[in-house]
Parts: sequence; C-alpha cells; structure tokens
Amino acid sequence: MTKHDLAAFHAGMRHAADMALIAALALELRDDADALRQRAAVEALRGLAEGLRVEIRPDDGTVAMVARIAQDPASEGDETCPECAGRVRWAKDATNGHIHAQCEAVGCFALMQ
Ligand SMILES: [Zn+2]
Repeated sequence: MTKHDLAAFHAGMRHAADMALIAALALELRDDADALRQRAAVEALRGLAEGLRVEIRPDDGTVAMVARIAQDPASEGDETCPECAGRVRWAKDATNGHIHAQCEAVGCFALMQ
C-alpha cells in the first residue's frame, strides 16, 4: 500500500467508525431505546466503532524509533523511515534531549519534540 492508499484506507475506517456511532445515537433516540434489542444494537455499534479505531491507531514503528534514538548516545544519526522505508536523519538537542527527525523524501515523515 502506498502512503496515499494508506491515508485513504484510514479515512475510510474513520468514516465507518463515525457512521457506526451515528447509527448508535439514532437508536438511543428512539422511543424504544430502552428495549433489550436496541441496547444490544447500540453496544454492538459502539464496539464496531472502537474496533475500527483500534485498527487505524498509529503503530508504524515511530514509538520504537524514538525510543532507540533517545537511548542512542550519539547526538545525530540515521533511522529507517516508518512511512517509506527511506532514510530519516535525526538529531538530539544538546540541552534538553529533544529529538528532531525528518525523512529525506520531501513531504514524508517528520518529527519534532
Ligand atoms: Zn519517508
């Protein structure tokens, strides 16, 4: 999947989660919202929304990369880009240890603490 494909996939998943929550809200506003059947449907829709959101939660290796950089005694170096597998150049601020990292590909990954 390209970066754009992934962005479209995530947008679709977010939209589906939003629609599930809207459907749940519509059920909650019904006159028979207290009926077991409606309550079960509301919980199922909320579970679906949460599952969709978990699916698209960022877990692209960025957290692990930042941890590696933070533990590295060097003040600058390279990492593999979590988005395009290209080269990320990073540097740590000498005073506060904050990390600045940027992919060499224009418009790709960038991080500044
Ligand atoms: Zn990149």
